Amino acid sequence: MKILVYGNSGSGKSTYAKAMSARHGLAHLDLDSIVWEPGKIAVQRSPEAIAASLQDFMRGEARWVIEGCYGELVEAASHHCTELVFLNPGCETCLANNLKRPWEPHKYASPEDQDAMLAQLQDWVRAYYTRDDQWSYKAHRRIFDDFAGAKNEYLSGAPMSSQFAGSCLCGSVRFVIEGSFDHFYLCHCSHCRKDSGSSNSANLFSSNARLTWLGGQDRVSTYRLPDTRHARSFCATCGSALPFSSSDLLVVPAGSLDTDIAMAPDGHIFTASRARWDRGLDAAPSHPHFPA
Ligand SMILES: [Zn+2]
Ligand SMILES: [Zn+2]
Repeated sequence: MKILVYGNSGSGKSTYAKAMSARHGLAHLDLDSIVWEPGKIAVQRSPEAIAASLQDFMRGEARWVIEGCYGELVEAASHHCTELVFLNPGCETCLANNLKRPWEPHKYASPEDQDAMLAQLQDWVRAYYTRDDQWSYKAHRRIFDDFAGAKNEYLSGAPMSSQFAGSCLCGSVRFVIEGSFDHFYLCHCSHCRKDSGSSNSANLFSSNARLTWLGGQDRVSTYRLPDTRHARSFCATCGSALPFSSSDLLVVPAGSLDTDIAMAPDGHIFTASRARWDRGLDAAPSHPHFPA
């Protein structure tokens, strides 16, 4: 599987690419990461260096998703993809998405630097349909129309086809999640240690996913620890951890999912609160089953 996703800035490429990467375990390349000099703002690498990085990535990875707006690079990569995805949700959607975009540390040194560039970025997004450079609708349209292989154009936002099924231990609660995960954290705080009974909780966080209970919703209990932001949903019969939504965030215990996720944890958090015994655990002897 080799997916090439492209479109205007704000068309949802990164969200879509991350979703496909997590769902199918694809190596993920954001073309921005090879076009710009690392650590420098708006300094382009040489065309030869960029082309070489793209070829290296495609040669080195058997299954990938590549995303970007650079017509020339998209065209070059299109000779190797198994599916071309053109995100074309319209100018207003792109502008709105750019307003919601969180700080991207790989592109901007600080959130302030990113904000300072926003007005200029939005002008550029608006000019998408009138420009005729390689980042324009005209160039993107031509790539899509000329492409002979499997291809999809989405006019109403990135399709979030990622689906994750989950259930509790006793099987009374079943659910499905549609969308993608923004973060995956292992939390070692004292609340998570207490309610998981373990060294840490392992939670996936999503700002876009939709949770649908398929059964047993009446068994879902939620406990909120007073005067904190800590909360946890669980099956009232078996106690298994279950997803819960708080304001605009969906929190999903990774162990509650039955669908394999390819995403690796982003990191350990609240490590200052680690249990004393929670150090160098990899060094403890491993037994494939209960030790004899
Ligand atoms: Zn249960
Ligand atoms: Zn915690």
